[in-house]
Amino acid sequence: MKKYLKTLTSVLPGTVLCMLLGGCGAEKPEKYMSVDTAMGTVVQQNIYASDRETAEKLSGGITGILEQLEQQTISWRLESSELFAVNESAGNAEGFLLSEELTKLLEKCLEVSEQSGGAFDVTLLPVVQLWDIDAWAAAENTAGYVLPEAELLQQKLDLCGSSKIKLAPESHGDNVEIFQARCFLPRGMQLDLGAVGKGVALEKIADYLERNQVSGAVVSVGGSVLTYGEKPDRTSWKVGIVNPRDTSSNLGVLSLEGQWFVSTSGDYERYVEVNGVRYHHIIDPATGMPANAGVCGVTVLTRDGFLSDALSTACFILGAEKGMALAEQYDAEVLFVTLEGDMILSEGMKQYFQK
Ligand code: ADP
Ligand code: MG
Repeated sequence: MKKYLKTLTSVLPGTVLCMLLGGCGAEKPEKYMSVDTAMGTVVQQNIYASDRETAEKLSGGITGILEQLEQQTISWRLESSELFAVNESAGNAEGFLLSEELTKLLEKCLEVSEQSGGAFDVTLLPVVQLWDIDAWAAAENTAGYVLPEAELLQQKLDLCGSSKIKLAPESHGDNVEIFQARCFLPRGMQLDLGAVGKGVALEKIADYLERNQVSGAVVSVGGSVLTYGEKPDRTSWKVGIVNPRDTSSNLGVLSLEGQWFVSTSGDYERYVEVNGVRYHHIIDPATGMPANAGVCGVTVLTRDGFLSDALSTACFILGAEKGMALAEQYDAEVLFVTLEGDMILSEGMKQYFQK
């Protein structure tokens, strides 16, 4: 539960602001709020709808999307998911025929991996499991936590590396509409889509809101936020940038109009402390250690949910200088919070950010 509370405090500042600035005096449609948990984190929904019944139906639909994505496609933990089966296939000579959805997602992950010089890497699961940070971050008492042994860490790291994945396009004869690939994972390799799942989920939620003709909504899944449509009073959405060293407060807010995806990666989401040193859940593939590039929080703002999530993780590992260059390559805006507490913003981010 500690994990959920920690995440909840990191999500609330942005959404509470939303409520204060957007709730009063609004004509119809009205705002409905709900807080739930899915994908191992807190989900907060603010939906503008004509009545409670409609809002509840929409809210249930959104929760369903999150559960379905996790259970059927991207969880490495659940036997029911496609990713679980892919991981089971590691070392098989015939590989695994991916669904169209997972083919496209994995292709995009491999591209970000390449563009980030390997900093972003969805093959780190053996290392992630060795650190087991998520479980320890959720525990009430982390006193017994033992750091991984260097030799074992190196053995796990040797199993990783996105460049070792082979994706072979599968032919569907004349039907070029279907795009699937067969995935070949070397023995011991295991995929983890934890760094992009929330962003991908928010993209699906944006489509769902559009299909259901929702006028406006803000949905946050852990540290990833979707703003959609507009408020009845046409004022902008406010998304808080959490202070990584005091997660009950914000460093500032982003004022956004229409559809945006905002993802934050930080060393305060999931971590354990040993002898005063913080070990968090974002791993530098170069060392197998928690990334240590001089930043404690990175927020990425884009029009693409997948990219906002992938780039916030990648930029956290790369640090401010290299991360800024990567974000620019994708036309994404980025805000870094350094370990000294300074903020570094891309030029474009400055127009959305206020202290
Ligand atoms: P959060 O899950 O807290 O929103 P991120 O989106 O930054 O944070 O994703 C972190 C998760 O991604 C980790 O819990 C782990 O499962 C996975 N991960 C860790 N290091 C990397 C990396 N270098 N590249 C890709 N995924 C990573
Ligand atoms: Mg991410």
